[in-house]
Amino acid sequence: MDISQKKSMLVSGAESLGIGVSDDQAERLLAYMELVLEKNRVMNLTAIKDEERFIYLNLVDSLSALRVLPEAGTLIDVGTGAGLPGIVAAVMRSDLNVTLMDATEKKLRFLEEVTAKLGIANASILCGRAEELSRDPRCRDSFDAAVSRAVARLPLLMEYVLPFVRKGGIFVAMKGAEAAEELEEARNITALLSASFSSSDELVLPGGEEARCLLVFEKTAPTSEAYPRRNSVLKKLYSNR
Ligand code: SAH
Repeated sequence: MDISQKKSMLVSGAESLGIGVSDDQAERLLAYMELVLEKNRVMNLTAIKDEERFIYLNLVDSLSALRVLPEAGTLIDVGTGAGLPGIVAAVMRSDLNVTLMDATEKKLRFLEEVTAKLGIANASILCGRAEELSRDPRCRDSFDAAVSRAVARLPLLMEYVLPFVRKGGIFVAMKGAEAAEELEEARNITALLSASFSSSDELVLPGGEEARCLLVFEKTAPTSEAYPRRNSVLKKLYSNR
């Protein structure tokens, strides 16, 4: 595939989800893909090694979150890994201040390389475990929005992510075909975490025709001191799911 084929695949794929990608943005997203695929040879960043599949399943999938992300403000990507969807959001939306958070330091070092090489000025990195960092007063109840993809099943994910979000802010959980089932499992914990379910946005990814669902939650009050529970407790609670 030459660059113009990749570009048109990315641009038309995003367009099918209602997202406009400019020429410059497409070039930067494809440059990001090259960096990930190159690094993926020495570090486990993504299971998707084929460029066409990467464009649809990583780039366009990440772009889909833009359908529900707010305008301007701070965004935290919890468990960003190779930078998905955080890097994509930062490239697309200079009005967002993106925090790329993960427990694995070497992945964040790679993301530092990425932001430097691509000239991404609106992203910074944060290393640590979600359930610990969200107790830090600088992080707690403070982000305008949070997003997370492929990190944990919904009830546990909500306990990881919602404590970071300010009252009135939103959490976008990027889910697949089991979204409705996970939403049901998370029914009780949602209120306990001072949040309410606000919408679900179902979509089908171009290319592979895979189903995706963006679950959006709104924070209704600051998180109770009781959450998140300790890692040992969480492990026991969620080990068999
Ligand atoms: N969001 C990326 C990565 C998914 S892999 C993507 O969609 O491709 C899951 C990532 O979450 C890993 O990088 C792992 O280090 C991170 N992670 C898992 N549990 C975490 C926790 N409790 N706190 C911080 N990061 C966590």
